[in-house]
Amino acid sequence: MNIATASERPTQAAPARVERFDVLIVGAGISGVGGAYHLRTQCPGKTFVVLDSLESFGGTWLTHRYPGIRSDSDLYTFGYRFKPWVGAPIASAAEILKYMGEVIEENDLARHIRYRHRIDAASWSSEDRAWTIDVTRTDTGETLRFVANFLWMCQGYYRHSEGYTPQWPGMDRFQGRIVHPQTWPEDLDLAGKRVVVIGSGATAATLIPAIANDCAHVTMLQRSPTYFITGRNANDLADQLRDLEIPEEWIHEIVRRRILKDQANFTRRSFEEPEVVKKELLAGVRAFLGPDYDVDRHFTPHYRPWRQRIAFIPDGDLFRGLRSGKASVVTDEIEQFTAQGLLLKSGAVLDADVIVTATGFNMNVLGDVAFTVDGRPLDVSSTVGYRGTMFTGVPNLAWVFGYFRASWTLRADLIGDFVCRLLRHMDAKGAKVVTPTLRPQDAGMPLLPWVDPDNFNPGYLLRGMPALPRRGDRAPWHHTQDYWSERNEFPAADLDDGLVYR
Ligand SMILES: Cc1cc2nc3c(=O)[nH]c(=O)nc-3n(C[C@H](O)[C@H](O)[C@H](O)COP(=O)(O)OP(=O)(O)OC[C@H]3O[C@@H](n4cnc5c(N)ncnc54)[C@H](O)[C@@H]3O)c2cc1C
Repeated sequence: MNIATASERPTQAAPARVERFDVLIVGAGISGVGGAYHLRTQCPGKTFVVLDSLESFGGTWLTHRYPGIRSDSDLYTFGYRFKPWVGAPIASAAEILKYMGEVIEENDLARHIRYRHRIDAASWSSEDRAWTIDVTRTDTGETLRFVANFLWMCQGYYRHSEGYTPQWPGMDRFQGRIVHPQTWPEDLDLAGKRVVVIGSGATAATLIPAIANDCAHVTMLQRSPTYFITGRNANDLADQLRDLEIPEEWIHEIVRRRILKDQANFTRRSFEEPEVVKKELLAGVRAFLGPDYDVDRHFTPHYRPWRQRIAFIPDGDLFRGLRSGKASVVTDEIEQFTAQGLLLKSGAVLDADVIVTATGFNMNVLGDVAFTVDGRPLDVSSTVGYRGTMFTGVPNLAWVFGYFRASWTLRADLIGDFVCRLLRHMDAKGAKVVTPTLRPQDAGMPLLPWVDPDNFNPGYLLRGMPALPRRGDRAPWHHTQDYWSERNEFPAADLDDGLVYR
């Protein structure tokens, strides 16, 4: 992982034109578009702009174009609180983009968003009480400058330009093609090809059934198994309510509550009775694969359920592919790449024409932007998070980092409300600057990793953790990743506790 790239860029010469806004939102993904909606509706007097380096909105759902790309959360909770979802719970990237497009159109947000604007640097000046943001237009190379009082970082958690590919010996010898799902080539023709997908997470599980019918054979090569949960891509409660012609706004709210209750129950059970939950999950897999399949070897993880995200397999499509013989699973480790494919640690050989590295992301903290605060480069890892959304010593900046176990957007909406409340609070106080600052009683507070690695530990997070802020052991410095406590804590947060105004 490389988080120093942006800070190594040379400082730009001042462009002729400078634009000023109250708030600048970085990113037009689900969080940034949500942020724009919340500002429009909750702080109508504020001027704002949304900048994104991509050519359109959508973030994750625009970047990822591999076959089958879809959500693994249900869209009743991944969708915004304020815009009903009316389709099947699991949605394709195209359906999510359509939904986001409607949000932009219905709320007249397009005029606030500028695409192909990459933010390279952001410097806070206490004297000016503002951020200066240096931007490069990715289409023309032109450099631009913006000044904003408040920065709302909605840049997600991984670098969009490239995925994470581990380096294995012999990769340069391989005569076929190596592809990362994050940069899926448009010209890739899989007809008649032997494909190996390295990885066992949601991306591999989505991709494999989507390509199984096109290629000669697809093998999922995994070092260790992952938990999967199977089910119909339908929501019975939503269907019943629709049958009764209940308004979509009500259906959205009722179904969200039902799903969130069920998820909370499932998470609680994963901690309280992990063996029972494990049995249930494996029974779901066995129901598709039959009694002769080696579920112990290929689908029984070594960790307890929910330490990593559990991928949803709608209608068991991955397992149907395995049963049909068009796909298979190998649980082994790569010794090295060869000219024809892969040599595994067991001595087995996997021949391949195309190798897909579904090996995850390069986590990037704060969008690879070179931050300075009053001339000093900002090292986020030396700060303490305020409710997992602001940082000690960093004025007028909020970051949206969603949930792992629940839909990302639930937290994006909570933070949206919080930021708008904070901006209104500043106005009421006549303050231009708000800075999270440890209180006297926090002296000596133990500083913990951003997320408890014993609680949740996917690879990208463990790789990225050293660059992330620290976490305290008490409010407002903790970061619980628990929707059920945060949905009460954020609206009730005392905005004069741990925040210093000027
Ligand atoms: C394949 C895949 C499937 C996923 N499925 C789910 C799911 O089902 N449920 C779930 O909850 N989560 C899921 N996630 C996590 C997902 O990333 C988030 O849920 C969510 O889409 C993140 O939205 P975001 O707007 O915060 O960030 P992103 O979607 O990452 O968007 C960030 C935007 O910021 C822009 N940006 C970043 N840095 C800069 C910069 N310096 N200058 C200008 N622009 C910048 C990027 O171009 C991008 O458009 C998935 C992730 C992936 C990769």
